[in-house]
Amino acid sequence: MDKARFFPQIKFFGEKLSDEISKKEVLVVGIGGIGSWIVEMLARMGVKKIGVLDYDRVEIHNLTRQNYREKDVGSLKVDTSEERVREINSKVMVEKFNEIKLEYFKKFDLFFDCVDNIDTKYLLNEISVYIGKPYIFGTISGNRGFFGYIDPKYFCFYDIYHGKRDCVSCRDEGIDVSSVFFISSLMVKLFIRSIFDPSPRVYHFNLSEFSIEEVKVKRKDCRICMRRDFEYSRDGSV
Ligand SMILES: [Zn+2]
Repeated sequence: MDKARFFPQIKFFGEKLSDEISKKEVLVVGIGGIGSWIVEMLARMGVKKIGVLDYDRVEIHNLTRQNYREKDVGSLKVDTSEERVREINSKVMVEKFNEIKLEYFKKFDLFFDCVDNIDTKYLLNEISVYIGKPYIFGTISGNRGFFGYIDPKYFCFYDIYHGKRDCVSCRDEGIDVSSVFFISSLMVKLFIRSIFDPSPRVYHFNLSEFSIEEVKVKRKDCRICMRRDFEYSRDGSV
């Protein structure tokens, strides 16, 4: 690790944890409101490699909350994110993907679910169960939402939402950019925490009330992480 560059981080986390961070290879699925900022934070923290998975182009209304500029409108988000990472930290490797394929997820230590589509969220959950890898998810609507670190050994996303399709997403009631920064930061905090404490945890927040509380998730004969009765993928593949 480049000590001259990272000394503020080393001072806080210590050399061992900073070193662990610098070895991590992380996939960010969906680089919109939440994902684009997570990519930025991971680049500044100096992870080894960031995978960015998205097929969208930057649109003008994205600029209210996503990490893009006017000159990026019309460009693929993966291209713009790659450029952004290179400008911040040229040592971080970037790999770009424009579709969900199981083999991409196997290559990384962990992934972030930053998509706003509930079907894709269930699909990503099934992939996590299939490959046995933890992930960090976030959902947001207005100024409230859920986020958490999920390890399918203990429970999965299905145990939180039970197949319901009305979970919050940013399309429901608009978005408050301060909530986007809030949830993105805490998802990255969960990533850091997972390196020395990989226990699963889920939180609900409501920034109207300035509240955040842990949600206790109970697993009971889960069709996905216990019975592996996948719904959105075939055998966890896509
Ligand atoms: Zn489950």
